[in-house]
Amino acid sequence: MNSRSSSFFVYFLLLVAIGAMLYVGLRDNSNTAEPLTISRVAGQVQNGQVSRIIVEGDDVIRVITTNGTEAESRKEPDTTLVEQLRGFGVTSEQLAKVDIEVKAPSAWGGVLSGALYLLPILFMGGLLWFIFRQAQGSNNAAMSFGKSRARMFSGEHPTVTFTDVAGAEEAKQELAEVVEFLKEPQKFIQLGARIPKGVLLVGPPGTGKTLMAKAVSGEAGVPFFSISGSEFVEMFVGVGASRVRDLFEQAKRHSPCIIFVDEIDAVGRQRGAGLGGSHDEREQTLNQMLVEMDGFDTDTNVIIIAATNRPDILDPALLRPGRFDRRVTLDRPDVKGREAILNVHVKGKPLDPQINLGAIARGTPGFAGADLENLVNESAILAARRNKKAIGQPEMEEAIERVVMGPERKSRLISDEEKRIIAYHEAGHAIVANAIIEADPVQKVTIVGRGQAGGVTWFRPDEDRILMSRKKILATLAMALGGRAAEELIFDDITSGASNDIEQVTRMARAMVTRLGMSAEMGTLVYGQKEELIFLGREISEQRDYSDAVAEQIDREVRKIVEEAYKQAKNLVKKYRKQLELVAQKLLEVESINREEFEKLFPPPNGKKSGTPQPA
Ligand code: ADP
Ligand code: MG
Ligand code: ZN
Repeated sequence: MNSRSSSFFVYFLLLVAIGAMLYVGLRDNSNTAEPLTISRVAGQVQNGQVSRIIVEGDDVIRVITTNGTEAESRKEPDTTLVEQLRGFGVTSEQLAKVDIEVKAPSAWGGVLSGALYLLPILFMGGLLWFIFRQAQGSNNAAMSFGKSRARMFSGEHPTVTFTDVAGAEEAKQELAEVVEFLKEPQKFIQLGARIPKGVLLVGPPGTGKTLMAKAVSGEAGVPFFSISGSEFVEMFVGVGASRVRDLFEQAKRHSPCIIFVDEIDAVGRQRGAGLGGSHDEREQTLNQMLVEMDGFDTDTNVIIIAATNRPDILDPALLRPGRFDRRVTLDRPDVKGREAILNVHVKGKPLDPQINLGAIARGTPGFAGADLENLVNESAILAARRNKKAIGQPEMEEAIERVVMGPERKSRLISDEEKRIIAYHEAGHAIVANAIIEADPVQKVTIVGRGQAGGVTWFRPDEDRILMSRKKILATLAMALGGRAAEELIFDDITSGASNDIEQVTRMARAMVTRLGMSAEMGTLVYGQKEELIFLGREISEQRDYSDAVAEQIDREVRKIVEEAYKQAKNLVKKYRKQLELVAQKLLEVESINREEFEKLFPPPNGKKSGTPQPA
């Protein structure tokens, strides 16, 4: 404990002691003894034990006995004391022996007694204020704000570059422009180019988001200011916003530079659902961030990179143009990516020349970059323990187990069985999409992507369409059910892997019936009032304005649409089973295939647009 915090502790104890004394004192003053019931007072008067009664205010009375003791009692507020005592059978004679004194209820008395009750509260408030002030002065990192501004954010100069980030070629390409800009902002500004302000890095834990942000800064040779969203959450009220202000101020002074906001979802969750007021702090922090970003001039030359693995929960305001309008995705690496990452991390470590990193890469589907770094580290430890001069294959193999079991794992190993199911599932999506003319062309299929168990199939919307035709929606439904259809066809069983697909399908089919007037039976009507938080652009609840019978009808229609789509998906995976097998096998082998590779295995049938971008 340093001297400051120990003196703080003494102050704290002192205050607690004073508080306790005050409290006891107050109690002693107000009730000397246990309050008497009014009937006991009447009894005492009848027995001639009472010499004096003082009526204080409306209901409190003080009873002083003949032998000098004092007690408190209460009378009914709206009758006089004499009347009440008479009610208990006290006679006028008996009453005459008692000296009854009525104190005029003074306004001050009320205020004073009120103040007495308030005292403990005032005291607590003072205590809090005191702690707050102390905290402001203390050196505690979590509490330091206000005073030690200058030291708070010192931009670091990361030494990592893009070569340290392996297997994320697309992401690097997308960020190359940011690097260019940071290197020579003048060049871009002179040409009046619109510079990205915010870039959102999206990806599961351990996929190198932080690493990538640092690499951008390292590549460009500019300072790196970072803060984590979860830090804000732990802070005192009103601190988050001022911290954001300080951060941006510091950064602007060092421009060109990068501000990195890690775990932005911690502050950037959707605002305003209004359940409980405890989100105020977060909202203020978020608002301040938005204000700062909007306040950037074209020549501010600060780029904000934020990272999250939950882009779905972010406040839409963050994603608006001029804020985090660029999104760069980091997926879990496929076999090739994993081998590249292993190569980065074995650099500088003695390796057995016989080692086969490709085999290790094939044995670690589902691993993220952080897991692979961990794996190399564990294998080095094992080799050292075995007094080996170099890391060999056995150590690497064993390290896989350790990472899978270890506490630091960011992902889990996908088993062979799971891998097979995911491969057919994703292939199913791709096959169905390619077989239906109206569906979007396939862009990329992977079995290691994001999500939990997950593969992903990417589609390239053929145009920037705003309107969706009925046929197009039906095609999308079939495509979304292609995964499950393939599972059923190949394994004669189905898994939970399709839960997202099914959710999406249900939502779309329901919208067709209740909102888009796309069901013949239900007609062109809207069913149900949607209550929307208009300014947030999202709905919070739906109000039913139709009968149970209609609800049933809607359910029936939705079910019919989904069943049709599933039937179509099943027919297509059956019809193109050969291609399904080819794609799934390829996926098992290389884990992710792009558009060209996919179309080689399954050329788009007649009339179907290729996913290859048409020259404009
Ligand atoms: P995230 O921020 O996405 O959770 P990190 O950037 O913290 O992930 O990654 C943790 C570590 O994992 C990095 O420091 C790096 O050593 C390793 N790592 C992750 N991805 C890669 C990659 N693509 N290439 C090389 N190393 C990686
Ligand atoms: Mg990170
Ligand atoms: Zn799916």
